[in-house]
Amino acid sequence: MNFQQIPQDGIRAASTPPPQLSGILRRIATLGDMLDRAVGEQDHPLRIQIDEIHGPVHATISGRKTTLFGTNSYLGLNFDPRCIAAAHEALDKWGTGSTASRVASGNQQGHVALEKTIADFYGRPDAIVYSTGFMANLGSIGGLASDGDLILYDAYCHASIIDACRASGATFKPFKHNDTADLERALTEATVPASRILVVLEGLYSVWGDIGDVIGLATVAKNHGALVLVDEAHGMGMYGANGRGVTEVQGAEHLVDAIVGTFSKSVGVIGGFCVTFHPALRSLRYLSRAYLYTASLPPAVVASARTAIEIIGSEPDLRADLWRKAERFCTSVEAMGYVLRATPGPVGAIRMRGLIQGLEFWRDLLASGIYVNLLIPPATPNGEVLLRFSVSAAHTDADIDQFLAILREFAPRAISA
Ligand code: PMP
Repeated sequence: MNFQQIPQDGIRAASTPPPQLSGILRRIATLGDMLDRAVGEQDHPLRIQIDEIHGPVHATISGRKTTLFGTNSYLGLNFDPRCIAAAHEALDKWGTGSTASRVASGNQQGHVALEKTIADFYGRPDAIVYSTGFMANLGSIGGLASDGDLILYDAYCHASIIDACRASGATFKPFKHNDTADLERALTEATVPASRILVVLEGLYSVWGDIGDVIGLATVAKNHGALVLVDEAHGMGMYGANGRGVTEVQGAEHLVDAIVGTFSKSVGVIGGFCVTFHPALRSLRYLSRAYLYTASLPPAVVASARTAIEIIGSEPDLRADLWRKAERFCTSVEAMGYVLRATPGPVGAIRMRGLIQGLEFWRDLLASGIYVNLLIPPATPNGEVLLRFSVSAAHTDADIDQFLAILREFAPRAISA
């Protein structure tokens, strides 16, 4: 991590490392110390502790009842009674953990059934389940691409995609965010055959909440004969008639060779997956180190993931409810003069002037009983400081009114376009 990118806007960030330290210890002490000094101890945005949880979007933080507008529980399924019941039943029958990798004794009937559920959900013949979404990218991208291959990835892709590129052994280069002309250029300039190129992008980018041009980018990639992998971590459950994500909504499913996703957002548990229509990708089970060398998901997680995916596929009203709430929220926020970084939707970001204003705003929201995510570089594009919010189907209209009333009060502090 590079803390030099933290915007200073007047904060004294210089740090003197303890003199007795040297080498690695000196470097990391300096970085951690610099961040803590910049941010201060009280209500540290990277160390917020939830003391009690009262449902998908309600919690007690520092003794205060707080409404969470910074979770990834877009549909509230982590507290759905059917998902909890499925988890209880599996816990009683199968115990707390699998205690081994899928290729050892950790391949239970539930894992295989979950793979069938997720493959059916995406209408694809094959799926591989990983233990997290991060590992799904490491395993799928790292398993697919290798020495002599080229990975072209959207410049705003998630850290797990970048780490997967690094781990793969392939050459990897970013193309400009959502820019079909830049992808075209990169493909034309490539010195390897197109069949050895993997293009990677996301359905919904979770920092600004902007959607990927999946149809445009995948069309360019396919015209050249490259493979396409889309990470639908955030889009799943939220976009598309069946909840399959931005790829579905844009009619691009036939152009996408592999979809990677996670169970830690709309699905409400933990875990990741890769689905595909290529039989060749079955070999990922023998090539993905993040699949081979780590323990499989606990049975209770597997059971609730299956139930949640079935709900996502069969209850479109939940998605409609999410969008109704998100649209009302975003329209009101924009009417107050706030500038959203992307087209209004369930995930959005409000730009702050710098770290000081961002911190103050974030802390004032928390003191008023609203939690959002404070995002700072290097986790943001262009060195921006952002307040990232997410609306959930689990928010009541009263929750949304509460947040809007506070934002109305704070509106004079908004940055205008
Ligand atoms: N891909 C994207 C686009 C993500 O945003 C994230 C996590 N925020 C992941 C992958 C990793 O997912 P998980 O947290 O389930 O490991």
